[in-house]
Amino acid sequence: MRRSNNQYIGRFAPSPSGGLHFGSLVSAIASYVDARQHFGQWILRIDDIDQPRTKSGAAESIIHTLNAFGFKWNNSIQWQSERISQYEQVIQELKDRNAVYICACSRKEISKIAASGVDGMIYPGTCRDQGHKENSSRAIRIRTNSERIYFSDRVFGHFEQNLETLSGDFIIRRADKITAYQLAVVVDDYLDQVSHVVRGADLLMSTCKQIYLGGLLGYPTLDFAHTPLVINKSGKKLSKSDRAFPVNPDTPLTALIAAWRFLGQQDITPHVQTVEEFWDEATTKWSIQKVPADYP
Ligand code: GLU
Repeated sequence: MRRSNNQYIGRFAPSPSGGLHFGSLVSAIASYVDARQHFGQWILRIDDIDQPRTKSGAAESIIHTLNAFGFKWNNSIQWQSERISQYEQVIQELKDRNAVYICACSRKEISKIAASGVDGMIYPGTCRDQGHKENSSRAIRIRTNSERIYFSDRVFGHFEQNLETLSGDFIIRRADKITAYQLAVVVDDYLDQVSHVVRGADLLMSTCKQIYLGGLLGYPTLDFAHTPLVINKSGKKLSKSDRAFPVNPDTPLTALIAAWRFLGQQDITPHVQTVEEFWDEATTKWSIQKVPADYP
């Protein structure tokens, strides 16, 4: 479905599994400055659906750091943990349409038979037609098909996947009853009326799944841009537990300028001394064409 108005609504959706690290700052800057350049709105959403991975105090620390860095968001902060009933409504709709099924496989069983795909193991469809009943330790999977899902990423260009062969039927509610990220993010972006997603390239491989789900639910299509990942010394994506590149809320300008350079942008002039001046100049200079399409 096409969006009926041209309004730009962007968002930043950190998971509170630790404080804001340099890698998250890179995608936050890209998403914020892109929204500002389009005279759009920008929403802050805390992706705290995965409670076992949520660290106490992490959301507050992220919000504090974003404030210190001069980010300003529209509306009140959204919390995934407050949307469980909305996710459940959508899951019920998908059940009623027979678009999903109950999966009784354990991770171990799947790993014995499944090949690995671009985004985890390719589920071989074992439970597809088994008619399993729901119980306390069974996941829900969405049926995929061989349709070509494609989009044009503003940084990475044309991208396409055949979900059936590349990932198989994927989980929308985990065995521990927690809504899977893939479903939660699609419902959230719809409820928040997001039009433009700018986020880290670790989610490039998830995008076709999200486009597929959004299409099934009749949601408007989104515009995607993925920013390069910051890699640590051992070549892995920087994670919240990484202590190598913490961002210090007491010296915001230093981190903002370093992240700006990482995004391949034209240098900020030396007379910029405050975060407000940084955002003004960054908004004028921002060029998404300059962002390197590096994928580790
Ligand atoms: N919560 C996800 C993360 O922190 C980002 C989700 C998204 O941008 O779609 O990696």
